Amino acid sequence: MQNIHAHTWDQALHMEPATIREAELSRGYPFDLTVRFDAFMADMAPFSRVAVFGMKARRTGYWVPDRYVADFVARAPEKLVGFAACDPTQPGYLEELREGIETFGLVGVKMGPMYAGFDPRDPRCDPVYRYCEERGLPILFHSGTTYNRMAPLAFTRPWLFDEVAMRYPELRMVLAHVGHPFCEECLVVIRKHPHVYADISALYYRPWQFYTMLIAAQEYQVARKLLFGTDYPFTTAQDSIDGLRRANDVTGQSGLPRVTNDTIAELLARDAFALLGLK
Ligand SMILES: [Zn+2]
Repeated sequence: MQNIHAHTWDQALHMEPATIREAELSRGYPFDLTVRFDAFMADMAPFSRVAVFGMKARRTGYWVPDRYVADFVARAPEKLVGFAACDPTQPGYLEELREGIETFGLVGVKMGPMYAGFDPRDPRCDPVYRYCEERGLPILFHSGTTYNRMAPLAFTRPWLFDEVAMRYPELRMVLAHVGHPFCEECLVVIRKHPHVYADISALYYRPWQFYTMLIAAQEYQVARKLLFGTDYPFTTAQDSIDGLRRANDVTGQSGLPRVTNDTIAELLARDAFALLGLK
């Protein structure tokens, strides 16, 4: 099994106090987001490979340096694969990205358009997309909503990535969280574009939405483009795996359509790293 979506960061170093408070508000109780290496590795035991990234989004108070992510993944290089982060609204973003890839050895990019406050079609993104397309670096975009008040919903709709994919047809992209709650919109984007995928991280705990998304993915015949991810530390590996295996529980005795055993087994077995061109 592989996990295409996990975070590393230290909330005391990499998040603004207001950002930490918002996380607590969303849960209703204090929640320590800091990722500790040993606990992380214990949680990741089910996976052979894990993609790990932080986040750069000045607007909403996240800034995890690429060196921090590189140092983290260097402690378990046989399993952890580090992605750089990029906020194209900030000065020097391209030089910083180059350093993350070429100096620190990171092999993919994480971007959060709504967190950083940019439209994915913004011309400031073009040099990033060109660079990643030329070098075969996948970009994992946050897509779908969040609890951060100042993160504009306008910049997170999955359809925005349709235009990016038409302009950069060889760019490998992952739309995180299947663009929740705009899941069907996300599915029709990944259906059109051979190199655009979606990850199912952090969806299982809204069981009805998760179930209907998986059914729609089957109906559009795009379940093969869904990648498994956890969004650790927001969720754990085991809860995420169990949540997928129990996707049909919400249907009870209703006679509603089933998420097939094949859909579930193939999702858990999929070689996402190969699909994204990561060795
Ligand atoms: Zn995430």
